[in-house]
Formats: sequence, structure tokens, C-alpha cells
Amino acid sequence: MEPLDLPPYTGEPVVVVGNGPVGQTTALLLARWGIPTRVLDHRPARDLVGSRAICQHRDVIDVWDSVGVGQQVADEGVTWDLARTFYREHELFSVGFTDAGRSPFPPFVNLSQCRTEELLDEQIAATALVDVHWAHTATELRNADQAVEVDVAPADATAEGAATWRAPYAVVCAGARSEPIRDCLEVSFDGRSFDDHFLICDIRADLPGWERERRFYFDPEWNPGRQVLIHPCPDSTYRIDWQVPAGFDVEAEAASGALDARIRQIIGDVEYEIVWRSVYRFQSRCADQMRAGRVLLAGDCAHLYAPFGARGLNSGVADAENAAWKLAFVLRGWADERLLDSYHTERRAAALENLDVTTRTMDFLVPQTEQARRHRQDVLDRALTDPAARADVDSGRLYESFWYVDSALTTPDPTRTPATRPPRGQAPSPGAGVLLPDGPVIDPESGRPARLRTVCRRGLTVLVVDDRDVHLVRDAVRDVVAAPVAVHGLAELDPSRSLLASLGTRSGEAWVIRPDAAVSAIVSASDGAAVAAAVRRTVAC
Ligand SMILES: Cc1cc2nc3c(=O)[nH]c(=O)nc-3n(C[C@H](O)[C@H](O)[C@H](O)COP(=O)(O)OP(=O)(O)OC[C@H]3O[C@@H](n4cnc5c(N)ncnc54)[C@H](O)[C@@H]3O)c2cc1C
Repeated sequence: MEPLDLPPYTGEPVVVVGNGPVGQTTALLLARWGIPTRVLDHRPARDLVGSRAICQHRDVIDVWDSVGVGQQVADEGVTWDLARTFYREHELFSVGFTDAGRSPFPPFVNLSQCRTEELLDEQIAATALVDVHWAHTATELRNADQAVEVDVAPADATAEGAATWRAPYAVVCAGARSEPIRDCLEVSFDGRSFDDHFLICDIRADLPGWERERRFYFDPEWNPGRQVLIHPCPDSTYRIDWQVPAGFDVEAEAASGALDARIRQIIGDVEYEIVWRSVYRFQSRCADQMRAGRVLLAGDCAHLYAPFGARGLNSGVADAENAAWKLAFVLRGWADERLLDSYHTERRAAALENLDVTTRTMDFLVPQTEQARRHRQDVLDRALTDPAARADVDSGRLYESFWYVDSALTTPDPTRTPATRPPRGQAPSPGAGVLLPDGPVIDPESGRPARLRTVCRRGLTVLVVDDRDVHLVRDAVRDVVAAPVAVHGLAELDPSRSLLASLGTRSGEAWVIRPDAAVSAIVSASDGAAVAAAVRRTVAC
């Protein structure tokens, strides 16, 4: 990981509770901003069991690239670019994925969560700024004067070493079972638990033709009335996910040979080995506060979704990035502490959108009323012959980055931002609140090839469309905020002008970009007051 070139930070470390993927990403992103962390986890060490989150989105790989693991995730993972949906033996539709820019990363990569965690661990081991304490449990967090106090106990009750750590801020990434911490912070976690059971088997087998696509089957003859999802993974491994009846007993199925028959119904008479299997149920919940004083909540600790749509870890990584740049700005004295309120509003809005999307999917997949069951059946039957009905077949809307269109940090631009999400698989048009499309540029610092988002992730950035306006914008942003602001003419970054079409820039514009590569404003470059106000607004709320 390349840390940013910043003056040394002399304050106390931030505490990160939980060394799962969201905690790891948070710690690495803070290290990138030069902020040290103490990370604690109550497990004795990394336990690499099962695949869990396998399906990582391009924008998340991009975040991981900023801490040195994105390229490896992309290289080691299976790239897939087609999501096919079947009803019984008929293919209803397939969805590809577009990119508004020209990212070097694929739309989705499948790699086991274990491997991702290992790659993040390697980066953590290589930085002196992350201090990991395994076998330590955070038992209580308290907001105190100018600090948060974290009571830490050795996970082994017989060991010595209970202590209270003081930190300027804490980020809690303690996963789904964080009730004790949420309770002591008086954070509620409303939602529902689903009774439906799902069986996952990761099998290793040679299945030519299946390597680059996700397959979703409604009511296949080998799982009538229910659905099956199949994902390709590295090393000729496939994740098969069946909806199974209540009372399903995987041990009994394995012993009786029914599990083997279940697998063979899908893959045929092919040799295979089971790498991992698990039966799971899930919950849909969201914390009422993602900021409690000096504590931010991120990842599964703050939200839980049904897994169809791969929104769990992907959105947890987006939480981590949002939290890290805002904490860094506050700790470095570049922004007022109120900036952290926007962590709650932005990321809770993202969580509610994810809940909404995944709940709609679950209502379609696992209807809870007779009316919903009839609707599902009717839509599927009509979709066989009526292409218009296929839009109503919900086999999971895969993760998309949230738009901060309504955020207090975003200067509204009703002329550009689409009001609703584009159809499945299509990238949104660029606009205020939306992530900047990526693409190749010349790095203004080194003169070498780079990516636009990499350049923008170094701090606050203003992209100026016309060269003649660059000096006007530099004058306008001088000293308007304590944070450094980089102003770049697009011609300097993109001499061939090949990015212009994907950005959709118009002559005379200045684009203000946040450190997480989201566009926060598009204003007239010649209106110095508007440029200054938009930059100020990006770090204040
Ligand atoms: C079957 C399955 C499939 C999934 N597939 C996908 C997918 O394809 N894509 C996707 O995006 N998501 C997926 N998910 C969700 C994904 O696994 C989670 O969203 C992800 O693990 C959340 O990471 P986290 O770091 O927030 O929490 P966790 O991974 O749960 O890590 C929390 C950590 O905190 C530690 N901890 C807890 N309490 C304390 C404490 N008091 N003190 C110290 N340490 C503590 C725990 O030991 C743990 O290490 C899937 C989940 C499941 C179960």
C-alpha cells in the first residue's frame, strides 16, 4: 500500500473493534491517511473457514486497490460478466454489466472471503500503522470527554490484561453479533429474521461453460417450487445455494446420499468434491444510528441483508471508505467534527436502500402470503413468452454503489442526476452524488499513467474542463477549507480527451470530487463563489 504523502499525524490511534474484512479495510484506509489504529478481535487468530462473501463489485475492488489488494483480488478471483436467470428449463433473460468509464477492473469478481481477508492481512502486516490484538474482546464503549473509552478484556477469561483504551474515535466493525456493543451505545437494530433455510455447497468440479456466469434457477425440476443459485469461484470451485425446506438436515442428507443426488441433479455424472457446506438463515436489520458520539458503526454490525444481491461485504467496504476519509479529515484538523454526522446520514441511507432492494427480492423469491405466491407464479409464467414481464422477475439486483445525491455534502444538480436507478446491470450516468467513472489518465504528480479515481482519492479534487479556467478555479479554492485541494485541468490529465465522453463534461464546468471519488458538485468554473461554496460544502454539513 502506498500511504499518501502527508505531514505526520501526532495524535492517538483510532480503535477498530473487529478484524473481519470491514475492520481490516477500515484500518488500512486510515493507515493510508497516516492515521494509526489499534485493531482488536476476540477470535484467537484468523480462522479461514468457508467462503462466505464471494462476490465483490468493481467499485469495492477499486477501494481495495487503494490499500494494495485490489489488483490481486481481481487477478485471483473469477471474473464473471453475465447473470443468467432460468425458470424451469427455460432461460428467461441474461444481464451483462456496463461501465460508465473504462475501469481496468471487471464488474464482479468471485473470490472467497477467506482469501480476501488473507490478502488484507498481508497489507496490514506490511504497515507499522495497524496494531492488531487478537484474542481481545471489547466489552464496553463509552463516550467520554474528548475521547472514547473502550474496555478490553482478554478473550480467554483466565488470562490477564484487562484494560481501558482511550482513543479519539472508534469504529465498530464487530459483525452481526454485536448486540452488547450496540446496547451499551444505545443503538437499536430493528428488522426481521427470516425462517427460510438455505444450503450452500462449494464443490470442486470441471464444468465447462459455467466458468464466467452466475446462474439463477427458479423452480428447476431438481428443486421444484424453490430456487437454486450457482456462482463460479476460483480453482474450479462452484458455490451452489439451494433454498431448502424448514427442518432440512444436511448431515442426514449427506449420510443418506441425498446430498450427492442433489448435486448430481445439477452437474450430472461428473466427479466432484465438496469443499465447504453450510446451512444458513438470515436477517434484515439496520442500526438506527451509525454514529454514536465518537463511535462509528460499520459493516454487518450496522446492517444485515438477505444475501441475494451480494450487498453485505460490498456495502461494508463502502462504509469503511466513507468513515476513513471523514475521520482522517477531522483528526488532521481539515474538517469540523460535524462532518462525521454525514457518515451516519449517507451510510444509513445506503443501508436502507440495500434493505429495500434485498427485501423486494426476498418477497419475490420466498413469498410470505398467498397473494405474493400467486404474483410470483404469474410473473414467472408470463415471463416465458412476454419480454415485458421479465423486468418483474427478481432474481436479485446485484450490488451498486450508493448515490449521495441527497447528501448535505452534495451540491444539488437536478439537470444531470437521474432520479431513479437505471435498469439492472447498467451503470448510472455521471452526476453530482454519483461515483466518478474511472479511466486512464496521466498522473499530474508523476507524469506516469494512472487512473482518474486514484488521482482523486488523494484528497479533495477539482477537475476543470477547460484549460482557460484552471487558474480561476485555483484562485477560487485558495484557503476556502483547511484541507488541501488539488485543481487539475482535464487536458493535463487526459491529453487525448478520451475520458470526456464517459464523464459527460460540458465546457465551462468544474467538478468537485470527494476523497472517495464521488462527485460532490458540478458548477460553473468561472463562478468563483460557486466553486468555493461547493468545496466548503463537501467537508461541512
Ligand atoms: C453464506 C454467506 C454468503 C455471503 N455472501 C456474500 C457475498 O457474496 N457478497 C457480500 O458482499 N457479502 C456476502 N455475505 C456477507 C458477508 O459475509 C458479511 O457482510 C461480512 O463478513 C461482514 O464483514 P464484517 O467485517 O462487517 O463482519 P465479520 O466478518 O462478522 O467480522 C466481525 C469481526 O468482529 C469480531 N468481534 C465481534 N465482536 C467483537 C468484540 N466485542 N470485540 C472484539 N472483536 C469482536 C469477530 O470475531 C469478527 O472477526 C455473505 C454472508 C454469508 C453468511
